[in-house]
Amino acid sequence: MLDSSFFHRWMSGMASAVKEAADRLTELDSAIGDADHGSNLRRGFAAVATVLEKEPPSTPGGVLSLAGRQLISTVGGASGPLYGTLLRRTGKALGEAQEVSVAELAQALRAGVDAVAKLGGAAAGDKTMLDALLPAVAVLEERSSSGVPSPAEVFAAARDAAESGALATVPLQARKGRASYLGARSVGHQDPGATSAALLLRTLAGVDG
Ligand code: ADP
Ligand code: MG
Repeated sequence: MLDSSFFHRWMSGMASAVKEAADRLTELDSAIGDADHGSNLRRGFAAVATVLEKEPPSTPGGVLSLAGRQLISTVGGASGPLYGTLLRRTGKALGEAQEVSVAELAQALRAGVDAVAKLGGAAAGDKTMLDALLPAVAVLEERSSSGVPSPAEVFAAARDAAESGALATVPLQARKGRASYLGARSVGHQDPGATSAALLLRTLAGVDG
């Protein structure tokens, strides 16, 4: 079972991961956007780590909801409201439970990802963060309901799915967000948001215990 400390470590791990990857994310966004994705997420997740340290919530749902609210209030770009919605909606779906199973997290993330799709109007193949999130959630749902693999195995499989999904955005033409303004010129570049979404799953798979 996963407790609030696990979720806290996931979010503070994401703050470190995004800090490290900020230059690469911004570089990707400079090719097909406005070169701010790395700085947007670095600022947002640093604020998340700070607020979680200051007022640590006692439930997994509380951690993700607070993180989501913080992202929405600190990140101006498209990714702030989208990641904020992902985490808030996932947190809401986890409810008040003190601990949650991997299957419950999978189900909650499905609600979160659906909310992102609804907010942004994007679908699979539009060259957005959803192209990493959707395959990862599908793997989480599938693996957590079949047999009894360890959380580590399930999260590693979801990480791989997210990373393949992010790589698979390279040949796509963007249909949503700033990159869509480029039309066919968006082809041949990896989507920054799909790349950061894969980082979110990589960080989840790297949380100890
Ligand atoms: P902005 O585009 O406002 O500068 P960011 O650079 O921080 O914001 O984030 C860009 C990323 O946001 C894109 O790479 C894409 O993955 C994601 N994105 C943009 N629009 C949408 C949307 N409508 N639905 C889902 N994801 C989106
Ligand atoms: Mg941008």
